[in-house]
Amino acid sequence: MKIRRFLSLGILTSCLLMSFLPADANGKGKSKDQITIVLDPGHGGKDFGAVENGAKEKEINLAVAKKLRSLIEKKLKDVKVVMTRTTDVYLTLQERADVANDAEGDLFMSIHVNSVDKKNTKRKSVRGSTVYVLGLHRDQDNMKVAMRENSVIELEDDYKEKYSGFDPSKDESYIIFEMAQKRNLGESIRVAGDAQSEMVRVAGRADRGVRQAGFWVLWATSMPAVLVELDFICNPQSVSYMTSSEGEDQLAESLFNAIKKFVERRN
Ligand SMILES: [Zn+2]
Repeated sequence: MKIRRFLSLGILTSCLLMSFLPADANGKGKSKDQITIVLDPGHGGKDFGAVENGAKEKEINLAVAKKLRSLIEKKLKDVKVVMTRTTDVYLTLQERADVANDAEGDLFMSIHVNSVDKKNTKRKSVRGSTVYVLGLHRDQDNMKVAMRENSVIELEDDYKEKYSGFDPSKDESYIIFEMAQKRNLGESIRVAGDAQSEMVRVAGRADRGVRQAGFWVLWATSMPAVLVELDFICNPQSVSYMTSSEGEDQLAESLFNAIKKFVERRN
């Protein structure tokens, strides 16, 4: 990289960081006796997420999150579950992050379903689970997933003011993610690795690995945070699995196993 380009990138990054830092990023020093897990079923209300093959992403996310909540409440002692939504309502990404930060969550798990562009010729056969942690996307595919999940911001009338000029369609907006949330990255990667391997083992999903990308909601939460893409809604087989009761159960169980390991590390 040329020095001049490097310098201007540095200046741009500092400016962006200053304007993007979440207001209340450090929690309020609560007691460590109880562990709080924040579950975030992606999308909701007027924000459908991806829609394909007769299924809506927002409904799959919520169904799996609710089953996951039941498992945690039934099987883990001294663990509190906070949901960003329990019904079909619209929430901004900022509101999701606020719920997590106000609850002083110990772990944030956002649940989503993946998709690829309509032009992609492999969209009926692409399959598998991915768990994302925050970082700079190093390849185009990861960037596209992050941009699609971030683009919900555009549904808000005044998003340009609220998100300090963050433009979900511009690559420059993602540079800041390289530096943010470093403190929680190790634990986020551990949870992501466990969730990913459990979705392969328990739910029989194809393994697309743990990846990094610039998801706004992961950056805005001041705790270890992962974003799960259960499987692809554009693949008819994957979608019939994800909308089946057995599929929901197995996916919830996979994520539960990862959360259980997180709780055991904390105790
Ligand atoms: Zn989504």
